[in-house]
Amino acid sequence: MLEAELERFRRDHPRCADLHARARGSLFGGVPMPWMAMWAGGYPVAVAEASGSRVRCVDGVEFVDLCLGDTGAMAGHAPPPVVETLRAPRGITTMLPTEDAAWVGEELTRRFGLQRWLFTLTATDANRTALRIARLLTGRPKVLVFSYCYHGSVDEAFAVRRGGATVSREGNVGPPVDVAQTTVAVEFNDAPALEAALAAGDVACVLAEPAMTNMGIVLPEAPYHEALRALTREHGALLIIDETHTFSAGPGGCTQAWGLEPDLLTIGKAIGGGIPCGALGLTAEVADRAARASTEVDFEDAGGIGGTLAGNALSLAAIRACLGEVLTDAAWEHTIPLATRFTEGVRRAIADAGREWNVTQLGCRAEYRFEPTPARNGTQAHAASDPALERYLHLHALNRGVLITPFHNMALMAPTTTAADVDRHTEAFAEALQGDSPL
Ligand code: PMP
Repeated sequence: MLEAELERFRRDHPRCADLHARARGSLFGGVPMPWMAMWAGGYPVAVAEASGSRVRCVDGVEFVDLCLGDTGAMAGHAPPPVVETLRAPRGITTMLPTEDAAWVGEELTRRFGLQRWLFTLTATDANRTALRIARLLTGRPKVLVFSYCYHGSVDEAFAVRRGGATVSREGNVGPPVDVAQTTVAVEFNDAPALEAALAAGDVACVLAEPAMTNMGIVLPEAPYHEALRALTREHGALLIIDETHTFSAGPGGCTQAWGLEPDLLTIGKAIGGGIPCGALGLTAEVADRAARASTEVDFEDAGGIGGTLAGNALSLAAIRACLGEVLTDAAWEHTIPLATRFTEGVRRAIADAGREWNVTQLGCRAEYRFEPTPARNGTQAHAASDPALERYLHLHALNRGVLITPFHNMALMAPTTTAADVDRHTEAFAEALQGDSPL
């Protein structure tokens, strides 16, 4: 069945194939970024245009895009207010502040609650900066993460728990040091394990997605967040909440939706409507402590924080346009019901086919997995992965004009997504499950 779908893909995408063959002569793996080689067809569809919730490839095939640049385009592709800022930029980068920066800081405070903000170019870099500040303020060496988390290319986070120890995640490219020196990995939703790890007294911070989203969606069980907050406070570790993906939960992410109280908060990707940006929020207390410490360390020059283009005028203008006019509070009133429609449609198709798979929704994001019940932690979720089956389903969808994120079985809704887009996926998915399939 996979062969038949691959043949169909090759038949429909000869220009994409030619472009990939050409690019192999100059690009590492034939793509500008190795992740882009991961698409189910064996080579990626090359984009001629991406607009709203649609992508058209160089072969002229139009796709409903439920991948949305793995959240980078959660505002829809090339949202007009953001494009407008690109047409008439008030400068691009100057190493000087603009009024947009103050507006964005105020808006992020309104949404997430944290009182002070600084900007980076990626969510990865916001996380790296957060870890440095946490180590500075606590004087402790270690970062606690959840097994099979993903926080960008942050060295400390490529750790899993195995056989009672913290070990490097498989595939880790050239780690700088043994990850056990920098990191304690525990399982999500396990408060006693968290407490035991924090009790060692060497953990500077917990870096956590409020719900895990990078190995399926793993939701927290009540009262896990209460325990996480109480235990981090009790043991003097700072709590960093990474809302980069969980921004799907609402206009202020899970932090607003669930009333979380992080010491630091990181976000990137979607807030700039696709223009590179990242943000790090600090509570007033953490910011004051950091400011006091700045007599000893260098926040302003070569102290390991920041980057020349970080906080540039264009990124800030894009964030203002995106949050002010596209991913407004009202946007989720449209996108969350669409994710519910997706969840219900896919659940129905699974039941009709007699499968026992689960579907989990987090705001305007939903994901199906091949187990009867949702995983409780990253290790369980990882064990339930089925790359061959995923590839088949993704390719089947691709051949019927729907893009699903290669790393996930995830669908994300943008303000430009329609009910018909969701139904197109549901129909294709039902067809894949109903076919005379050995699945
Ligand atoms: N945090 C989370 C939760 C993510 O899922 C990702 C990327 N998928 C990042 C941070 C890093 O984002 P970026 O690659 O844009 O730096």
